[in-house]
Order: sequence, then C-alpha cells, then structure tokens
Amino acid sequence: MPTTPIPGSSAGSLRHGRGRGCVITRRALFSASHLYRLPELTGEENASRFGRCSLPPGHGHNYELIVAMAGPLDGDGMVLNLSDVKHAIRREVTDPLDFRFLNDCWPEFDLSRPQGRLPTTEALTQAIWTRLAPHLPLVGLRLYEQPTLWADVIGNPMEAFLSIRTHFSAAHRLAREELSQGENEAIYGKCARPHGHGHNYLLDVTVRGAIDPRTGMVCDLSELQGLVNELVVEPFDHTFLNKDVAHFSTCVPTAENIALHIADLLSAPIAATGAALHKVRLQESPNNAAEVFAETPLLESRPAVLEALASA
Ligand SMILES: [Zn+2]
Ligand SMILES: [Zn+2]
Repeated sequence: MPTTPIPGSSAGSLRHGRGRGCVITRRALFSASHLYRLPELTGEENASRFGRCSLPPGHGHNYELIVAMAGPLDGDGMVLNLSDVKHAIRREVTDPLDFRFLNDCWPEFDLSRPQGRLPTTEALTQAIWTRLAPHLPLVGLRLYEQPTLWADVIGNPMEAFLSIRTHFSAAHRLAREELSQGENEAIYGKCARPHGHGHNYLLDVTVRGAIDPRTGMVCDLSELQGLVNELVVEPFDHTFLNKDVAHFSTCVPTAENIALHIADLLSAPIAATGAALHKVRLQESPNNAAEVFAETPLLESRPAVLEALASA
C-alpha cells in the first residue's frame, strides 16, 4: 500500500504505523472515603441537601478510573509507552488518593477555603484531569464511583458529564396498528407476536453541566435520581408499555422510541435543575441498545470519545 514517506522514518517504522493516530485507554483503581458536609450549613441543612452522604465521619467507594489519550503512533507502534502512562497515573492520582479521605487529599477539597468544594464524582474527575493533563495527552476521563454512577470529563475540564444507571422491567409488542399481523411479522419478526414479551431494561441517563464551585456538583444528584424515578421508572416498571403508557398506544415501543420518549420526558425537568440532558441510553438486552443524544449541536462530536471510554 503506498504511504506518504515521513522524513527520518525507516520503512520498518512505517510498518509499525508511525504517524497514524489512535486513542488509547488505561484503567486504574483506587479506594477512598469522603464526606459531603459544608461548614457554612447546619447539620440539618447538610442532611437535607446531601442525605446520608453527610453522615460523619464519611463513607467510601471503590473507584474505577478510565484515562483516554490520543496521539500519533511512534516508531514502536505506540501512542505512548504504557509504562510511562501507568507511572504518571500512579504518581499523580492513585498514590495520593488510594485509601485516603478525599476531603483531606487535595486543596480543591479543603472546605475551610472559599474555593474548596465537595469531592463529588464530577469534581474529583475534574481534579484528576488537572493533575494528569500536564503529563498525558488526555482526551477524556471517566470515573466510576459505583457501577450505577460515573462522571466524564471530555476535552473541557470546566464542565462534566454525570451519568446514573437504573433499570425497569416491562413488556411490549412491536406492531403497527394499521398493518396486518402478517405484515407486522414481516417487519418486526417474533416481536410482533400478539401477546407481547418482556425485557429487563437498563437505563443510563447522562447530564452535562458546569461544576458548582462549592457543592462540586453539575446538578443535585438526589433530585436527578428522583426525576428519573418519578417520570420513567415508576410509570414504566412492570407495565405492558403498549397499553399502560399512553404515548405507546400510538407509537411502536421499539428501544429507539422508548429512549426518545424518555429523553422527551426528562429534558425540561433536568434543564430546571441547571444541567442539560445529554444522552439517554436504553439497553434492551445484552445484544441491543439505543442511544439518544438530546443536545443536537453536540451530536457529532461527543459519541466517539464517550464510546472509547465506555468500552474500555
Ligand atoms: Zn459517596
Ligand atoms: Zn422486545
């Protein structure tokens, strides 16, 4: 295959992909504790804002960090030597944080300073970005606090994406009213069978926003969880979607249509919390999922990097 010669490179290094671009990811684990308790608030106020996260002396998580980096390959066929990546992550992140109380680790989380903020998932991801950016060609960071809660910082460390995962079980039938059973089966296959079938749906909701300088949050997490529960999980769980959810009496409840409807239900209430609904991902089975990007201007730019992080 003809390749544009790169000055100073040998045929051997070209064979190893020199000059071509790639995104690489590296995973790191650490365990740490934290406490959500602002000194300017009373005990009752902290409890009402941060719930059980405000209970002294704190509680802990096993964090999983995914670091995505991009760049051209060197003559050895690598974006970076993974040993250097591993050492940078260890030196800058896991050594200072592992088995520590996050509130005491870094000045960002010193709440006695006016600039101090709570060590939330998103604030921690942002702080890790500022530690790693001088050393690694970062394009994205994902930090899981739990399998059902994670934050992403992508390119712009001034804002973060926060995702929550929940689930519901529901039955549906894929068929268009105006078509015959035979026509519906030709389109939807077994999914058109007359009495329906069910799925355990996994629902990921991702919001985007600026990180509050004091609470360290892109939005109130319990408010977000409450909205998803009240507007989606409660009305959808253990239902026959076609009959029990009015929208699907006239709209075929494919995974795509369910995801779109969820995005429509959540967009305005999430906007009222100060964040923007970025993405709804609905996994219908281990084999299929639908993703709706609710912010159209970002439609083309975000998915590729998120995907690199998601499948790391
Ligand atoms: Zn926590
Ligand atoms: Zn189905």
